[in-house]
Amino acid sequence: MKPESFLTPATAIWKLGSSSEDRALDAFAIAPAAAESKSALTDMPAIAAWPWILILAGVHGDEPEGVWLVEELRTRWSTHYPFAKAGVILWARANPDGVHRVQRWNARDVDLNRNLPTEDWTAKGLNPRYPPGPAAASEPETRALLRLLADAAPRAILALHSYSEYQINLNANDLADRGNLTCAWGESLAKVCGYPVTENVGYSTPGSLGTYAGSERGIPTITLEIERDLPKETVLEKFLPVAAAAIAFWETRVK
Ligand SMILES: [Zn+2]
Repeated sequence: MKPESFLTPATAIWKLGSSSEDRALDAFAIAPAAAESKSALTDMPAIAAWPWILILAGVHGDEPEGVWLVEELRTRWSTHYPFAKAGVILWARANPDGVHRVQRWNARDVDLNRNLPTEDWTAKGLNPRYPPGPAAASEPETRALLRLLADAAPRAILALHSYSEYQINLNANDLADRGNLTCAWGESLAKVCGYPVTENVGYSTPGSLGTYAGSERGIPTITLEIERDLPKETVLEKFLPVAAAAIAFWETRVK
């Protein structure tokens, strides 16, 4: 590997559509540092010769911690991406209207983490705080995420949220097979940040990414609930190493 390819990774902006208030739904893809990968990064979400790890944030617009973290990762990793075998898809603002308004829901007052077409999706919100939308995948942000999952087929997903009960949540109803891998992934993050690893949040989450990708499709999916109300500097200091550990875990598993 040439040193310069390590320092300047190939990157692409993947345009996944726009929100109902016409804000861009853009993900940022960074190819791993192997020289041959540079020409292979397309401008559209696509399966690559390397595994993609998806890190997304800003699904709930009033949880800025993950947005700060993913935007900082983009700044740092777009000039110096320290992994040779695993690529990363960074999506800082999966709910850009909600981030703009500093509200949990999107501009149509839908909780996007209840809008995915899971088998147990229901129009009846289980809690007024979590309005699931008029239909599964009714929201442009949800359809953008579905397209990203279908077209790029990420090997694993780290979803960043924040909550008073901070935790590394495995979203795994079935912890056999790939669930064990998800557990190992979660433990590797716990070593860095000291958070407890939990198997579920304690209530059912129809329409959530954890249920859709983790439970129903066996894609190792972790919801990292960062402690609420930490200052930005603390979030970056504590969780930049966690994000790096999240990619490093998969890097060691690429043949
Ligand atoms: Zn959240």
